[in-house]
Amino acid sequence: MAYVTRRDKTYKTKEDICAHVGDEYSDYMGAVVPPIFQNSLFVCPVEPDTGESRGHKYTRISNPTTDIAERKIAALEGGEAGLCFSSGMGAISAAITYFVRKDCHVVLMCTTYGPTRIFLTQLLSEKFGVTVTCVKGDDTQEIFDAVKPETALIYLESPSSAVFKIQDLEAIGSFARKRGIGTVIDNSYATPLHQNPLEYGIDLVCHTASKYLGGHSDIVAGALVGAKEPMDHIQEYERALYGSNMDPHQAWLLIRGIRTLPLRLRQHGESGLAVASFLERHPKVKEVYYPGLDSFPQRELARKYLRGNNGLLSFVPDATPEQARRMMSACRYFQHGVSWGGFESLIIGISVGKSPEEAAALDIPTGLIRIHVGLENVDTLMEDLDQALNTM
Ligand SMILES: *Cc1c(COP(=O)(O)O)cnc(C)c1O
Repeated sequence: MAYVTRRDKTYKTKEDICAHVGDEYSDYMGAVVPPIFQNSLFVCPVEPDTGESRGHKYTRISNPTTDIAERKIAALEGGEAGLCFSSGMGAISAAITYFVRKDCHVVLMCTTYGPTRIFLTQLLSEKFGVTVTCVKGDDTQEIFDAVKPETALIYLESPSSAVFKIQDLEAIGSFARKRGIGTVIDNSYATPLHQNPLEYGIDLVCHTASKYLGGHSDIVAGALVGAKEPMDHIQEYERALYGSNMDPHQAWLLIRGIRTLPLRLRQHGESGLAVASFLERHPKVKEVYYPGLDSFPQRELARKYLRGNNGLLSFVPDATPEQARRMMSACRYFQHGVSWGGFESLIIGISVGKSPEEAAALDIPTGLIRIHVGLENVDTLMEDLDQALNTM
């Protein structure tokens, strides 16, 4: 029987890539949803002439289901190759390990995700003598000034995930390329739908797929995209030797998440902007941080780099730490939790009760509360925040 094939099609829009890239119907007996190749092993005949064997061999190196997720994410980022990992930290630690060497120096944004900071400033620095300079993420000159002769990597996270510091990717990309310094970015906040850093000369783009890419709070997963050469190396060494490859079942759930990413993100962005505007007008709120607001300090850069909004934002209430904690527990829809990017609304006190010095070290204000605006009805969510804020 001749099944419909899609292999020759090129998909230009993000929506079409999410829906269709990698769905080779002829390979999967016409199945609209490709199967889970729940295999450790693939048998592959040896070519008599060369002694080589082609195709998948072992799932720690590659797997056909994971391959589909990788092709989707690479196409969305506009990169030559993509790899999926067992977590966002798996992708991030592989990308960093690819660039660092013993006793090298790394420039790091101090607003970077905590475990990434710990990986660099504790694990790599204590074991391998890597030195790290932490800089403010919104000051390009400070980033350039931090570079030393032994700098091997500038690690970016833009926007960051607490107060959304934006780095000037174009300026940093061309600066680093000229000097042969590697660049890695955590692009999880924007997702490949809203920002594609490879366009600006950034070398490797990391994602936690546990957030918007997966979107349903049911997987921990990561992805990395870049040019073929570094990605081939990472597939063989930094991923395969640490064994941080993605499991096929996880990949299948990730593919399912990606199919609805454009729709979900549009709603998170619409509701996120509505909630941010509501909080900005609320008498019990002192400051709101959201790249989609005109009051956002780096609004120009946000306009330049981000094609849309999402549901993550933070604010500082006019409250003592005790009042702020009482307000958070008075929420009925916003549940207390660390993550974001799923269907559900969440709230967390990022620097509630922290001293101004502790908060300053992370380049965030004290008393900061972060919320993730989920896919619930937006009016219900605003009513929930309003009644909680009015308990203070
Ligand atoms: C959650 C998160 C990560 C880590 O992802 P995991 O999948 O939990 O390992 C990395 N970066 C950012 C910005 C995150 O929010």
